[in-house]
Amino acid sequence: MAVPFSPDRVERTLEERLAVPAAVLGVVRTLEDAGFETWTVGGAVRDGVLGRPGSDWDLATRARPRDVQRLFRRTIPVGIDHGTVGVLPRGGRLVEVTTFRRDVVPLGRRAVVEFADTIEDDLARRDFTINALAWHPLRLELRDPFDGLADLRGRRLRAVGDADQRFVEDHLRILRALRFAGRFRLTVDADTWDALVRRRDATRDLSAERIREELLKIVGADPRPSRALGLYRASGLLAALFPELDAAFASRGPGAWTHAVGLADRLSRRDPLLRLAPLLAPLHAWGGGESVVTFLTRLRFSNADTDRLVRLTRGAGALPAADGAGAARRRWLHRAGPEAAALLAWSLAEARLAHDMDATTARDTVARVCALRRALRARPVLTVGGLAVGGRDLIQRGLKPGPGFAQLLERLLEQVLDDPAANDRETLLRFVDTWTEDA
Ligand code: ATP
Ligand code: MG
Repeated sequence: MAVPFSPDRVERTLEERLAVPAAVLGVVRTLEDAGFETWTVGGAVRDGVLGRPGSDWDLATRARPRDVQRLFRRTIPVGIDHGTVGVLPRGGRLVEVTTFRRDVVPLGRRAVVEFADTIEDDLARRDFTINALAWHPLRLELRDPFDGLADLRGRRLRAVGDADQRFVEDHLRILRALRFAGRFRLTVDADTWDALVRRRDATRDLSAERIREELLKIVGADPRPSRALGLYRASGLLAALFPELDAAFASRGPGAWTHAVGLADRLSRRDPLLRLAPLLAPLHAWGGGESVVTFLTRLRFSNADTDRLVRLTRGAGALPAADGAGAARRRWLHRAGPEAAALLAWSLAEARLAHDMDATTARDTVARVCALRRALRARPVLTVGGLAVGGRDLIQRGLKPGPGFAQLLERLLEQVLDDPAANDRETLLRFVDTWTEDA
């Protein structure tokens, strides 16, 4: 049954949803009192309307950067060239204040802009109707020239103006479209979809950093990245940007993709790299750790992130049986090293995913994971650093330092993994004596 439209009710709801924090309100008031029209814009307005507050409040203003710098005591020139000044209000977080802008030169990689005088100009250069809403927190007025509110309510993602042109101006918008559609469960409007599919190959000239950041935003913020990632695949963007991934999945049969994105959904967004790992696992299976490294280097992931993803995609082998010997569990934990907890979370996600098809296997996996987690909580010695003897003890024993040392310590660790009680100086040195006598 249709709910009768009541403007009053809509206004009240919006007001409640768009409750702007006092510190931000103070910044708006200072600018308005100085004669500069100022609005809250962008993600925070969209998220507020959706009832998901939490984004940073960005302001758009007629004031020029130098006016903003003059009006506030504490400012940071976060992006003066694009008209953005960071204002640090008393008792609040940094608020980005950006002068109204308008696109001038379509460039493809990033639109060139100039300052403008009206909020309408500023909204017209924004990418999607749902991102082109402005809220005036003093006048309690919504400015919505492109019907973004109706699109939000109807769950539609639509480009502002001519979709083709908007994607030609800035190819990053293609990635953003799919990220927002996935994140907010929006259906991409037909014209916008057709336009982004037509332009998808042009995204290859975006910088590696921007592509990587988009990917990380999907796995780092979306509770269910499978939707945005599914749109990447359906639109052909996956093949355009990550051809090796697309090929690896294509070769593994239709279930492989569903499995990988299903795992990403079930892993915590607090560990974005772990969520990426199931997507890179087919690459590892395809060409080993090297192909994972090549992929991540191309996207300019840091060395630390790359190393971690190689460790995660390599894994630590099958989980030992829950009722098996403790030594097998400690050996598994030793192989997993610093990734033990992450790899166990991954196995648990696998179990949840498999549960519907094969409950017995899933239960067995859960039992194995629990046993390993218990073993980990007992803080067993898993590295040579935890041994009760070190290099110095070996020197005292008359042994010469060299590569043999590391081997000897590894061998001692094997003993301790088998039997934690052996990690005692006397016992370990007795092993050393026996081994060196044998040699
Ligand atoms: P989130 O920060 O949650 O990813 P957001 O909407 O805040 O979402 P930002 O990248 O922070 O996205 O950008 C803020 C606003 O600036 C957007 O809502 C949009 O109006 C505008 N915007 C950002 N990038 C573009 C772009 N490439 N083209 C046009 N408008 C853009
Ligand atoms: Mg934002």
